[in-house]
This record gives sequence, structure tokens and C-alpha cells, in this order.
Amino acid sequence: MGEEKIEKIARSEERANADSAARIKKVVLRIETLRKIVQVSLFALFNAVVFGVGSRPILLPIIGLLGTPSKTVGDALGALQLMLFEVTFPWLALASIFVAAVFLGRAFCGWACPFGFIQDLLTYVKKRHMEITPRTHRTMVKAKYVVLAVILFVSGTLAVSLAAGAGESYKRALGVFAQAPFNTISPADTLFAVIPRIAIDLRFGIAQLLGGPAEEIYASIGSTITSLQPLLLVRLLIMGFIIGLAVYVPRGWCRYLCPQGAFSALLNRFSFLGLRRDPVRCTRAGCRDCVQVCPTLVPILELPWEKFTHPECIYCLKCVDVCSTKAIKPKFP
Ligand code: SF4
Ligand code: SF4
Repeated sequence: MGEEKIEKIARSEERANADSAARIKKVVLRIETLRKIVQVSLFALFNAVVFGVGSRPILLPIIGLLGTPSKTVGDALGALQLMLFEVTFPWLALASIFVAAVFLGRAFCGWACPFGFIQDLLTYVKKRHMEITPRTHRTMVKAKYVVLAVILFVSGTLAVSLAAGAGESYKRALGVFAQAPFNTISPADTLFAVIPRIAIDLRFGIAQLLGGPAEEIYASIGSTITSLQPLLLVRLLIMGFIIGLAVYVPRGWCRYLCPQGAFSALLNRFSFLGLRRDPVRCTRAGCRDCVQVCPTLVPILELPWEKFTHPECIYCLKCVDVCSTKAIKPKFP
């Protein structure tokens, strides 16, 4: 092989190495990488009871923490319902929702919520997602406010009637929904609290039966399945539907149904945190990269450029990442 040829091969190898180094650097420096690290770390931190860390009296505007004994912090909406059930003014839960929203808007949805994180992971299952027209989207986002209104109505009216000494029959009529109506069927609670409990029970039962005849083990699994309560079946169906939805519609639950998301969305407009789109840098005609990458369909290009704090924005900063002219930046305050 001639010297010239060897040099040519060496140069092309050098170029390939430089390209892959640049690619790795680009991925590592992406905000999305940082967000994933934060989401995984917080997921571990919320479950740090497993590592001997005790529960803390902290409430956050996220879901999936109530009813799970191994959580270090609590979810504000769950606590709000429990406080109303105890006929206590839910000032701590409200304070946590308001303070978080004023300073960071819906950033907890984008960076901290365990159920939001699971939905983000589910979006990787499919490359192409369902197209939702802006009109359908605008109609469907309202559903989560209806869910929130129903929860507040049920818990609020129960608290008032109990405080007036006339709520016992109302409480009995509500049955399992009296204590925390949302959490009784919340897909996040089913995923993080109910399913792990069933798995532990089943494992324990099977471990006890192991060594016995196979028919006994099958009979035990069969009786566990037939003994599933109707409420549990409903819970599993709802959870299955929401997980399926997240595969086809990024953050489908957050966009359309989550009552905590609705609460935070109502307050997001008043948040110190927002985004700014520099009109001088944002010049590429026809470029809609930021709009296309947004998981919650925020109409970024139709919003004021100085600062926008749209109810649906969860501050994932994907739009900041994707913009090739670096036109979008977080703004605080
Ligand atoms: S909208 Fe609900 S589920 Fe989604 S991230 Fe926010 S609190 Fe979590
Ligand atoms: S507007 Fe940007 S930061 Fe907000 S949700 Fe959409 S992509 Fe994320």
C-alpha cells in the first residue's frame, strides 16, 4: 500500500473520530440529557426510604406519591383531599401548590413528577406519534379542568357537610371515594402503590407454595385473579389505558386529564419562570422546529416573544435544545 493511501486512511479515521466526539459532546451538552439525569435522580430520591432515608414533611405539585409507604415526600393534591376529609383547611397543600407555581410554574411536571417521567420514557416506544389537530387539542385540554373541578367539588362539599355535622350519610354514600376521590382511581397510584403491593403479595404467596404441587400454585394464582375487586379491575383498566395513551400521544395524561397538571396550569401564567423567544435570532422562514418538538403542543410562535408562560408549558426546554439559532431561552423573572 502506498504512503499516500495510508495517509488518506489515517485522515479519514481522524475525521470519523472527530465527528463521533462532536456527536457525543452534542448529546452530553443537551438540556434533555440533564433533564433525564434530574428525573432519574428525583425518582430515586422519592423512593429513598428504601435506602433508609425517612419520610419528609414536604408536599410537591406532582402525582404518584400518595398511598405508597416508601415515599420520602408527599403529593400536594393527595394531601389536599385528605385534609378536607379530616375537615382541616388544606393550607399546607395549597401553599405548596401556589409557591411552586409562582416560582417555577409547571417545571415540576417537566422535571420532577414520577408519572410524567414514566410517560416520557413511554414516548420512546414509538418513533411516530399520533397527530392531534390544534382544534381537538384545544377542546381536550379542558377535560383536565373538569376532572379537577369534580375532585374539589366532592372533597369540598364533604368537608363542609362534615363540618356542619351533617356529612356522615354523604360520606357513606361516597364509600371508597370519600377519603381521596382522585387517588382512589389515579393511574399513578395504581402504578406506584397498588401494583407493587400486589406483586409483593403474589411473590410471598408463591414463595410459600413453592415446593408444593404445581396444581396448588396454579389454583392460588387463579383464586388471586378471581378475587380481584371490581375497583381494582377498574384501576388496572384506567392505568392500562393511560399507559397506552402515553405511547401514542406524548404526555397524553398530562395534557388532557391530570388534575394536578390542571391546578398547576391555572397558575402557570403567574410564574416568574417563563421563556423568551428572541425575534432577531428567530428568523428562519418556515422553521417550526420548536413547535414540532413540544410534547404539550404549546403554540410557541403565536405567543409574545418578550416572555411567555403558557398553561401547557412544562418547561422541559426541548424547544430551547432544538432551536439551531438559540433563539429561545428561559427567562426568570
Ligand atoms: S401533569 Fe400530572 S402527571 Fe403530568 S407531570 Fe404534571 S403532575 Fe405529573
Ligand atoms: S414550550 Fe418548550 S419548554 Fe414548554 S413544554 Fe413546549 S418544548 Fe417544553
